[in-house]
Amino acid sequence: MHDKEYYSRLGFMCGLEIHQRLATSEKLFCKCNALADADHAVCKIERRQRAVAGEMGVIDQSTAFESRKGRKFIYHVYKKGTCLVDIDEEPPGDLNADALGIAMMVSDSLSASVPDEIEPMRKGVVDGSDPSAFQRTMLCGYDGSIEVDGKKIPVPSIFLEEESSAILSNSATEVSYGVDRLGIPLVEIDTDPSIATPEEAKKVAMKIGLLLRLTGKVQRGIGSIRQDVNVSIKGGARVEVKGLQDVESMDEIIDNEVLRQTRLIEIRGELLARNAKIGKGTDLTELFRHTEAKILSEQIWQGGRVFGVKLEGFAGLLGREINPRMRLGSEISDYAKMAEVKGIIHSDENLDSYGITAREADATRDALGMGRLDAFILVAEGEERCRRALELATSRARLAMDGVPSETRGADSKNKTTRFLRPIPGGSRMYPETDALPIETAPLRRKLKIRRIDIEEVRGRLYSEINNKQLAEQMLWSRELPLYEEIIHKTNAEPATVASVLLEKFRELSRSGIAVEKISADALEYAFMKYAKKAITKLGIEEILKAVPAGRWEVDRAIAQKKLGRMGAGEIRSLVKQLKGRPRGEIMREIMSKHRLVVDGEELNRIIDA
Ligand SMILES: [Zn+2]
Repeated sequence: MHDKEYYSRLGFMCGLEIHQRLATSEKLFCKCNALADADHAVCKIERRQRAVAGEMGVIDQSTAFESRKGRKFIYHVYKKGTCLVDIDEEPPGDLNADALGIAMMVSDSLSASVPDEIEPMRKGVVDGSDPSAFQRTMLCGYDGSIEVDGKKIPVPSIFLEEESSAILSNSATEVSYGVDRLGIPLVEIDTDPSIATPEEAKKVAMKIGLLLRLTGKVQRGIGSIRQDVNVSIKGGARVEVKGLQDVESMDEIIDNEVLRQTRLIEIRGELLARNAKIGKGTDLTELFRHTEAKILSEQIWQGGRVFGVKLEGFAGLLGREINPRMRLGSEISDYAKMAEVKGIIHSDENLDSYGITAREADATRDALGMGRLDAFILVAEGEERCRRALELATSRARLAMDGVPSETRGADSKNKTTRFLRPIPGGSRMYPETDALPIETAPLRRKLKIRRIDIEEVRGRLYSEINNKQLAEQMLWSRELPLYEEIIHKTNAEPATVASVLLEKFRELSRSGIAVEKISADALEYAFMKYAKKAITKLGIEEILKAVPAGRWEVDRAIAQKKLGRMGAGEIRSLVKQLKGRPRGEIMREIMSKHRLVVDGEELNRIIDA
């Protein structure tokens, strides 16, 4: 990772959009169970989408892009968790007040202003993930901020909105969605683009994530929180990276995206210096009629064609690496694939590996009228698809002369890079939701008694409860925090012991192969209750956990089977009496070596001293 100056010299700009699903029992605009597990689909609904011009008479480029793909959308409807509202056959019901309360709590916690009245809006959705082609959304907070390392990052807006459907399967011709997820309440938190480094972006995301967890009212687990990152550098364009689920690799993915944009800007410079031009598609099928290259001959046998295009001034640049395992050629190929072709072949590749001979390559160069600095790309498919693929590929090659295309890209968490998804949507996608009434916030605030989350306050409390700075800080960021809170709330066990078991013991046991994640919260709580009542010792808790108890009775069984019942003071006193006259250390060792799991060390100390 580079230093701060490096990113500032590049004119790095970065903002986050954080989406977090809320843990309400019902969906946002209907009474469906928001936490239902998907069963099998009871019916499937098929729809297609057509792009129409907006009120300004312009068709949004990303809408047109999706519409051109002509894909079919199939919505899976379930018995649980779906209703007519979800498939846009019935107007929305009343807004879920609990969800709005949580969104207001998040807004308060980010020092944002909450509007007097909440206005539900519709936001256009182009990828088919909503049967109505819009998503309901409303502004619940504005002018907030979050502080990281003493720097205030503005949070201009906080929205409450509907979650989209889950993608079940995706092919070039159809996409299947599960509408059980559709309409679950979600908060979207947007920062402004003043984040100065990839590392800072990660810190902001982590802190917002912590704040959300501390509300105690958000869903947990994979997919329940998603980060979108907007990244640009000087001389480039805004790129939106969608769907980062793992905040751990966020800095690395952003850093690679910066590298990609830097390289694309360098390539633009070279293309302009070479006076680059894009040629016209040419049918080269006859030239490859007897080729040994399987990827081409297979298509020709099936009546397909081979098309080529000259990219003047692109030689050497198509093969230039712009990201780990990614070249300009891969970017062009990603565009071509939207036309359902397998990909492209370009002249910076090892043509031999495809089975294309030097003679065929030379003939291609001749046919296209190429010079030394020119490159070509080839596509093989049915004629219609070939032309479409070349159109898309050359549109991407043309964008290379502008540098960085403004795109929505997906995070590839395996390679820590980003991949093209679609052009970035235009700005004007919001319009009022005429089926839902505006809501006043003041009465709701009084009714729900909304409290503000203050991370520093929670941190301070944990420090004083646990009395160990490192352990308290670990607990603050830990997924076990709600469990910790519940245990110390319901039992009298001392917080330091609970924290050390949940963090240190859990890690230790998990490393030795014990499935600690399967221990039920109820069993844990019960074990700590027994401990607080002095029925077992701290070491006894550990022995019980090794049995991976699923409930209270299994805790009791482990205590009985392993004979973990804590020894009473009278019994300890008589053991000490038997060893009277011996040195203190020896008495200690003698008793602990035999009764380690059932004698509390501190109690033994007190008895010896008495
Ligand atoms: Zn519903």
